Amino acid sequence: MTTTIAHRRSAELEELIGQDAAVFRILTGDRPTGRLHLGHYFGTLRNRVRLADLGAEVFVLIADYQVLTDRDTAERLDEYVTGLLLDYLAIGLDPARTVIFTHSAVPALNQLLLPFLSLVSVPELNRNPTVKDEIAHSRQAAVSGLMLTYPVHQAADILFCKANLVPVGQDQLPHLELARVIARRFNERFGLPVFPVPDALLSAAPLLLGTDGTKMSKSRGNTIPLSATADETARLIRGAQTDAGRHISYDPATRPAVSSLVLLAALCLGRDPREVADQIGGRGAAGLKTVLTTAVNDLLAPIRARRAEYARDLGYVRQVLRDGNERANEIAAVTLAEVQAAMGMRY
Ligand code: ATP
Ligand code: MG
Repeated sequence: MTTTIAHRRSAELEELIGQDAAVFRILTGDRPTGRLHLGHYFGTLRNRVRLADLGAEVFVLIADYQVLTDRDTAERLDEYVTGLLLDYLAIGLDPARTVIFTHSAVPALNQLLLPFLSLVSVPELNRNPTVKDEIAHSRQAAVSGLMLTYPVHQAADILFCKANLVPVGQDQLPHLELARVIARRFNERFGLPVFPVPDALLSAAPLLLGTDGTKMSKSRGNTIPLSATADETARLIRGAQTDAGRHISYDPATRPAVSSLVLLAALCLGRDPREVADQIGGRGAAGLKTVLTTAVNDLLAPIRARRAEYARDLGYVRQVLRDGNERANEIAAVTLAEVQAAMGMRY
């Protein structure tokens, strides 16, 4: 699906959400590979909170097995998982209405991978543009089977709970397309409508760039983490790439680095990026960085304060995950039983 079509579809979905958000079951997730950043916040996290507050059922997956797609071992897993939980709570995801869970705790979900793998061809897996990009940035010399097949695993993440809406960044569109194909093929091949066909919901900021001008990614060292201190934020923004132009303008096609900083400031301020650029104008890159630092720190101050409060009660934070895992297991067991029944595995 092209981005334009995905944006158009997202606009239609927003109308449906406006009418009755409760008809949507939402699944999204993050890899515990580092600290969540502003790309996550504007690309998907904010949407999760909004949809949950509107009454949709929200599932949030901490994709621990998928850490191994592009590295040999998962480092600092416990620290990153806890960090993700703290961020979710700090941005306002209410655990009473959200199921937060990890892959590794839900065996029945992972088992769906086997029938799903049988529904896709190797050429289909090979031509996934996001996987190609991730292979280019991978820390491994050879491409692992998990790297090539993790989009199928993601289909299992989405379909085990029969989610029909997935708020994502642009990099996820090829994966969502594959999940749709798998849902349709499963239903057709086994003759029962077991799975809904899920939709991607793009936010207004589906691809935020990092301080080096490429996609802001936890693993690329180019992020502004939600949990950074105000000083760390200022330092990261000071080191961000700009260009030689003295006057600040918003023109993503010709000035991607500067424009992405302008966009970040505009998103934090809830304003139009062109207006923000005009206002900074002749104050140049230094002026832009000052405006951006203040905007980010103002936006994140209350989130950081809530995060610090939750960090003082890690017993509660871990319980949130245990409860989520328990609920995810109940749901996965029901779906797996349906899948096995549809496939004739009733012994
Ligand atoms: P990694 O580098 O380890 O892959 P990541 O920063 O890409 O980390 P993920 O955990 O892979 O983060 O992605 C989680 C979610 O955040 C996905 O829905 C993805 O589309 C979205 N997302 C990630 N980066 C961005 C970004 N720069 N802009 C908008 N959305 C993003
Ligand atoms: Mg990623």
